[in-house]
Amino acid sequence: MSRSVGGSSRQWRELRARILKASDVCHICGRPGADAVDHIVPLARGGTNDPRNLAPAHHDVEPKCNRVKGDREFAPIVRRSGSLKRPDGVGG
Ligand SMILES: [Zn+2]
Repeated sequence: MSRSVGGSSRQWRELRARILKASDVCHICGRPGADAVDHIVPLARGGTNDPRNLAPAHHDVEPKCNRVKGDREFAPIVRRSGSLKRPDGVGG
């Protein structure tokens, strides 16, 4: 009756449980109590679901490191580059 939504969600759940069982130390703040796993390299940036790319993180529990991290990543990074003054009229 229920169609499989999300494809390999079962595999993902098992993998997640495995990682949290091995360690619940948040890779962002370094404190225990992580409730979720985080992609070290986001999928959007070429990361994979490989266990090596997954690490525990606080998601729905304080301090919600995953959210903080996400906000930062989605925030536009504006680099202020000092306008370089090119010497005018300098010929070789
Ligand atoms: Zn954390």
